Amino acid sequence: TIRVCVAAGCLSQHSDQVKQGLEHQIQERGWKHCRVKGVGCMGLCSAGPLVSVRSSEKNEKETLYQAVTPDDAPTIIESLSSGTPPATLICPTNRPFFTQQTKIVLANSGEIDPERLEDSLAVGGYQQLAHVLSDLTPAQVIDQITLSGLRGRGGAGYPTGLKWGTVAKASGSRKFVICNADEGDPGAFMDRSVLESDPHRVLEGMAIAAYAVGANEGYIYVRAEYPLAIKRLQTAIRQATRVQLLGNSILGTSFNFNIHIRLGAGAFVCGEETALIASIEGKRGQPRPRPPFPAMSGLWNAPTLINNVETYANIAPILEHGPEWFAGIGTERSKGTKVFALAGKIVNTGLIEVPMGTNLRTIIQEIGGGIPDGHGFKAAQTGGPSGGCIPAEHLDTPVDYESLTALGSIMGSGGMIVMDESACMVDVARYFMEFCMSESCGKCAPCRVGTAEMYELLSRIVQGRANLEDMELLQDLCETVKYTSLCGLGQAAPNPVLSTMKYFKDEYLAHITDHR
Ligand code: SF4
Repeated sequence: TIRVCVAAGCLSQHSDQVKQGLEHQIQERGWKHCRVKGVGCMGLCSAGPLVSVRSSEKNEKETLYQAVTPDDAPTIIESLSSGTPPATLICPTNRPFFTQQTKIVLANSGEIDPERLEDSLAVGGYQQLAHVLSDLTPAQVIDQITLSGLRGRGGAGYPTGLKWGTVAKASGSRKFVICNADEGDPGAFMDRSVLESDPHRVLEGMAIAAYAVGANEGYIYVRAEYPLAIKRLQTAIRQATRVQLLGNSILGTSFNFNIHIRLGAGAFVCGEETALIASIEGKRGQPRPRPPFPAMSGLWNAPTLINNVETYANIAPILEHGPEWFAGIGTERSKGTKVFALAGKIVNTGLIEVPMGTNLRTIIQEIGGGIPDGHGFKAAQTGGPSGGCIPAEHLDTPVDYESLTALGSIMGSGGMIVMDESACMVDVARYFMEFCMSESCGKCAPCRVGTAEMYELLSRIVQGRANLEDMELLQDLCETVKYTSLCGLGQAAPNPVLSTMKYFKDEYLAHITDHR
């Protein structure tokens, strides 16, 4: 079997033409035993387009080809006969990028054809939904998820079982399940990749959640900027509904669950759950004060469960292998694995999945392959515009919710941008502040005015027009905006500034003193 990555990263480098070229070569040779399959993301996006060859479906021996062009198709096919793969195209799979990952969420990514339900079923797709519907009560499902220790992967890390239990207990004859796929952090592409690579896994997780909380309707709120993910979701929903894995009378039971897709229109704030709900309702996507929390009063005032893509993708494996298995991975308070999108100044940009508690050094220096061109590491930014910049002296920090928060950053949804010594950290802080300023919905003054003022102060510092009093003003503004903004966007907008002022204060001072 020849697997060709047809996720967005490799497709942008014409992997569809590579696939066609390989199919053409096989057809010309009349090889009936050889099959070319389009699969989801294999992770190492910087080496794409990636092509994997195995001598049988079950055979573990794999030859991985990197940076394959359509012109390489004859060479690859000829090498299958000669047994001598072309050295220039070989991507070694015995390096840390491949050997140091633990794949739960991404287990099927790069393995199955995301557009074929049969492929998903062949690796156990929807088996846990069938198990749950025939063997478990909703309360038992929630118990399993609670015991696993799974926490929401969207950023806040709220215990998933607790959230499910709250929605299940909330009164109301109509309840909803929402999948938040409005991934908007700069440099983040975890949700996109999961949806492009294994959409049925997410749908199964949503259906299990709906059964557990008593919902019959679900929404996936996905960015309109993700056309391939949307197309594959639509295909997956259609396929699953046709064979009663979704829709009415699922698997012949009385359980109904219909899923609708809603497209985001490019507003970052719509990733905030109350703004997302408003947007689905057809209103302007703006957050509202909580309580009431969506679990009690969400979409159309009905109890609503919201989790993100990665959270739902963890559900079937937890039920398959048991909550103890999942709880045995990771750290005391952060269980399981985490998917990260590695971006910036790092050799291996792409998608990885590691046990919670893996330290930053392992992620960046080993799995990520270090900093390119012999440059030194300066900082890693986690959590997108709500996160912070972590300097070299904290590279041995285990990546889990508590440790990152203690450093002044956050886990966020999994974006990780690596910077080398050439980065100006004040400019980095200014970039993220500009992002928050542009994306502020304007509903509350601390965020609307505060982000603009902070951006102006940062610009003055970068341009050498600031004095030491401006630094104090910036610090004060950070505290004010953090503690008085209405939603997470404003509350976390100062994080990149606070963390860079804490760890790279000399750079701020240099901008001020060097221009006197
Ligand atoms: Fe809108 Fe910002 Fe206030 Fe959130 S904090 S409600 S994004 S103005």
